[in-house]
Amino acid sequence: MTAIAVLGSTNMDLVAYVPKAPRLGETVTGRAFRTVPGGKGANQAVAAARLGGEVVMIGAVGADGFGVRLRSALAAAGVETAALRTVEGPSGTAHITVDDEGGNSIIVVPGANARVTGLEPGDDRRIAAAGALLLQLELPLEAVLAGARAARAHRVRTILTPAPAQPLPAGLLAATDLLVPNEHEAAALTGLTEPHRAASALLRDVPEVVITLGAAGVLYAARGRDPLSVPAPRVRAVDTTAAGDTFVGALAVALGQGRPVPDALRWASAAAALSVQRPGAQDSMPTRAETDAFAA
Ligand code: ATP
Repeated sequence: MTAIAVLGSTNMDLVAYVPKAPRLGETVTGRAFRTVPGGKGANQAVAAARLGGEVVMIGAVGADGFGVRLRSALAAAGVETAALRTVEGPSGTAHITVDDEGGNSIIVVPGANARVTGLEPGDDRRIAAAGALLLQLELPLEAVLAGARAARAHRVRTILTPAPAQPLPAGLLAATDLLVPNEHEAAALTGLTEPHRAASALLRDVPEVVITLGAAGVLYAARGRDPLSVPAPRVRAVDTTAAGDTFVGALAVALGQGRPVPDALRWASAAAALSVQRPGAQDSMPTRAETDAFAA
């Protein structure tokens, strides 16, 4: 088993399906409503656990019904939740409107996630015991930085998804081993829209980069090596929510098993391609057996 620690967000996604999103001041009647566990941290944790990783989630949920459900969704996927604190106040929520064209608008209210401002007793030990630490940017940046520095001190590989795109605190990239932006995040970080150029610029700060390019696959770049493009399997995508999180969770599992990078990228691409063929976020994530069969 590959030991993976995730320091990240848990959110309940509150999804309203509407014919057309309301304008400011307007009220519209929705067609349907669903609540689904999400948050980039939790999504990556579930992806890695489904794929056979031994995963510990570090973060916080609120003292509400959503918190209970978020915790049990992680536990049901096999994620260790002892380091997921329950704090006073509401859980993180994402208020999502999806219109008939598939377009969406999202408001994220961090809730309990905003209370994670650093590591708690025991977190350092959990990070030290892992082969990799997965980080995203949905927690306060001081916590992300503290996690990255702890991992670096223990020589644990840090894999950072720089989403949602925002300016990074000094020192975060210096403590990152592998950066996995999508093309928009790579452009936001570098000002360069062409992926090869963006990757080259990012290699000034981190030793390895994977830029995800949706249906076009991924671009891998590392210092002193030729860049490698891995096309995505051709599939019919019905819902790409959490495709990036599935990719990162899978990549962490594959690298943790010592697979060579090209092989790990192909396996993670297979996992992500499976996830886009099914609706949902955590619900759409594939098992290890499915991914092995699809990647074969
Ligand atoms: P999300 O925010 O939806 O989680 P993202 O914007 O972070 O996704 P993308 O680059 O869109 O990330 O997708 C991540 C990976 O998922 C891609 O590199 C690819 O491997 C896979 N993927 C996404 N869309 C498709 C698709 N239509 N067909 C096959 N694979 C896909």
